[in-house]
Amino acid sequence: MHIAIMSRNKNLYSTNRLKEAAEARGHEVKVIDPLKCYMNINMTSPSIHMKGEDLPKFDAVIPRIGASVTFYGTAVLRQFEMMGVHPLNESVAITRSRDKLRSLQLLSRKNIGLPVTGFANKPADIPDLLDMVGGAPCVIKLLEGTQGIGVVLAETRKAAESVIEAFMGLKANIMVQEYIAEAGGADIRCFVIGDKVIAAMRRQALPGEFRSNLHRGGSATIVKLTPEERSTALRAAKTMGLNVAGVDILRSKHGPLVMEVNSSPGLEGIEKATGIDVADKIIQFIEKNLKKGSAKTKGNG
Ligand code: ADP
Repeated sequence: MHIAIMSRNKNLYSTNRLKEAAEARGHEVKVIDPLKCYMNINMTSPSIHMKGEDLPKFDAVIPRIGASVTFYGTAVLRQFEMMGVHPLNESVAITRSRDKLRSLQLLSRKNIGLPVTGFANKPADIPDLLDMVGGAPCVIKLLEGTQGIGVVLAETRKAAESVIEAFMGLKANIMVQEYIAEAGGADIRCFVIGDKVIAAMRRQALPGEFRSNLHRGGSATIVKLTPEERSTALRAAKTMGLNVAGVDILRSKHGPLVMEVNSSPGLEGIEKATGIDVADKIIQFIEKNLKKGSAKTKGNG
């Protein structure tokens, strides 16, 4: 097969591992920076160009689109879909999962456990919003944040009010969430491929920190999931329409609660913590699904 990996940097761990795994299985791979692509949108022969040249024909594309390039990256991916290239994750599903609020709304519609979450844009609504999520302590999140940046734990109602007011003053979109104290600064990353959770790790925050992101100094260890956690992760990925997803779960008194469904989950943390060859499993999944020809939307989303 000819496989394109959409990635801004070919030296990133995940990009490298996917390239290595695909080549080891006899495929030809090209890493393509979506920002270097430009496109010809037309009915008869949609095409993608890079540095004055038409891109060769690919069988499959693995999108690794960073949050900061979602808009242009998904447009390039859509163009691949229109050209009949099989996407590992479809552009519509990626766009859906990048909107944190929309994702939570879709997940809640499917009765998937979530932390109680509120959203408002007027300072006058803050008191009621705080009541809705059970008051302080609560977690305030910037909708555009990643890697734990813009996630604040407000321990008192006064602190929550001032932080929310400050964010609103800056015209930032935020959500306010109940704080799951019993998670103890840990979360579970479930790595989903197709209809299986193929690996899972528990990330633990540093002492005195509640955010378990590895970028924030958290540490990762292999974890055994409960059947409920496994099925929650699978249902969450399916709801978003993602074939490959990193589903982040908090262990609460009321069972697993989904925080986020990530459409370009990193491979480094999960492969190192579990010893599982995730990249190889992704390539095998593409091989099986390409045979079935199961891309659904073909750029129609
Ligand atoms: P990001 O997408 O920026 O990583 P998250 O929503 O995943 O932001 O939050 C970062 C970390 O903060 C999580 O991995 C988790 O450890 C912690 N966290 C987030 N929301 C809650 C919550 N409602 N209760 C307890 N801990 C939380």
